[in-house]
Amino acid sequence: MAFPSDIEIAQINEHENMKNIEEIAQSVGLDSSDIEPYGHYKAKISASGIKKATEQDNGKLILVTSINPTPAGEGKSTVAIGLADSLRAIGKKSILALREPSLGPVMGMKGGATGGGYAQVVPMEDINLHFTGDMHALTSATNTLAALIDNHLHQGNELKIDPRRIIWKRALDINDRALRNITIGLGGPANSIPREDHFDITVASELMAVLCLSQDIDDLKERISNILIAFTYDKKPIFVRDLHVEGAITMLLKDALKPNLVQTLENTPAIVHGGPFANIAHGCNSILATKLAMKLGDYTITEAGFGADLGGEKFMDIVTPKLDHAPNLIVVVATIRALKYNGGQKLADLQDENLNALNLGFKNLKRHVKNMRYYHIPVVVAINKFETDTDNEIKLLQSLCDELGVEVSVADIHHKGSKGGINLAKMVVRTADKESTYNRLYEDAQPTVEKIDTIASEVYGANNVEYSAKATRQLQSLKDNAWDDLPICIAKTQYSLSDDPKKLGSPRDFTLHVKEIVPKLGAGFIVVLTGNVLTMPGLPKKPAALNMDVDNDGRISGLF
Ligand code: ADP
Repeated sequence: MAFPSDIEIAQINEHENMKNIEEIAQSVGLDSSDIEPYGHYKAKISASGIKKATEQDNGKLILVTSINPTPAGEGKSTVAIGLADSLRAIGKKSILALREPSLGPVMGMKGGATGGGYAQVVPMEDINLHFTGDMHALTSATNTLAALIDNHLHQGNELKIDPRRIIWKRALDINDRALRNITIGLGGPANSIPREDHFDITVASELMAVLCLSQDIDDLKERISNILIAFTYDKKPIFVRDLHVEGAITMLLKDALKPNLVQTLENTPAIVHGGPFANIAHGCNSILATKLAMKLGDYTITEAGFGADLGGEKFMDIVTPKLDHAPNLIVVVATIRALKYNGGQKLADLQDENLNALNLGFKNLKRHVKNMRYYHIPVVVAINKFETDTDNEIKLLQSLCDELGVEVSVADIHHKGSKGGINLAKMVVRTADKESTYNRLYEDAQPTVEKIDTIASEVYGANNVEYSAKATRQLQSLKDNAWDDLPICIAKTQYSLSDDPKKLGSPRDFTLHVKEIVPKLGAGFIVVLTGNVLTMPGLPKKPAALNMDVDNDGRISGLF
């Protein structure tokens, strides 16, 4: 019999095992006045809950990251969730801090972000669809700001904003390539000023990053007021504060800022909050969620999106300084399938044993382990076991890890839940106890070009960085405006260490192509767009949406 789908497992277990969210809150020391329930199984954690938690000591922080994935994703969320459940199974007080799914990949190709098999956060349908409305609030706030900018132009343009130099884009949490470049304001004088405009997917919007990096409402408002939205005709910067609308935009996000509490299939508490992609944004859940989780649990498991070159690097260089607590351990997730893919085996043949491709593809894991070791924090490998992995392949991978001197554990949590991750949990407890001193890759005070060079050479393996004419002009503008001392958020393909998705394995000595540089002054980082990466993805030929349905009782099917 075929192994059941994620939604089939979730629906059976949700029905039988889910605990009321008040019980989950109680299990981490929060009472009913500390949460705001959204139905029976989801809640926002209120300001009083956050305040109460700050009095506790911090537990340990475990960062889950991975090698370069295949197009299907390699099970980081699955391993993170299974690890948290396995830690509970060996008597440790674990808790998760994860990102919220975007409807883009849900309807598109990859699927949701609630884990898989017997390692899932639930209720998976709700979390994958509208959840507690955070994505909608962010979308509304982004578009409200856009509407206020266009209204300013229409009402006389007192600030002398150049309509050709508005950098604030509209947003939608859908993969909609038709909205990448649009024309608005057509239809004559009553319908605003015609201009070219653009949409980002909500998870790439600056407000998503701002939400994820804010400490409280005052900080959120301050960051929003600092967002750069446009330039004037004489090229002077215009910020949200110039429009005096930071209060209104913050108001729209006041509830979205509160972290969401849910649970796993095995009732481990999970804070799921904020969801930037890691290829086109910074890729980690909100710092409020991670900080809160560290107070509520002895082991917080958090995940950085895509490979360690993207989410991992951004977690260590952008997020960690704002957390005031570096991870105690980094877990690099690898699958035999993805390593074989990185070793040249075709996507369609990944189920076939191929020791040669595995051997070759191991280079990719080796690079990511080396990169993560740069931060002077213990690194271990978790092999996310698939049914098609052969004993020979597992043995080979273990011996290659031994040669590299990195501890490794095989996790069979997708099929077995916490029982399949006991050894991984024990290895994590043992290694997270080791002393470590966080070493950052670069200092914010370094010039932007130097910071980009450091990431490109140390993490990606590039020997050259090439800037487009536009990017060169933008670099100069960073200098002229003294916006040079911010961390760097590189937007790059997730499939390769380089900016070319076809360069698999462990590419070296290539050129990284910088197309555009965008200061995100509210988020407090500089986005560097490389290769052909897009901030509004498109849908594939056969989107996942084709399999989805709902019956007259509201029962959903085909959500993976
Ligand atoms: P990532 O976090 O790396 O993007 P996910 O954990 O979201 O990956 O998993 C992507 C998909 O792969 C999910 O549908 C999940 O059920 C499936 N998956 C993950 N691990 C396994 C496994 N060991 N065996 C089979 N399917 C798996």
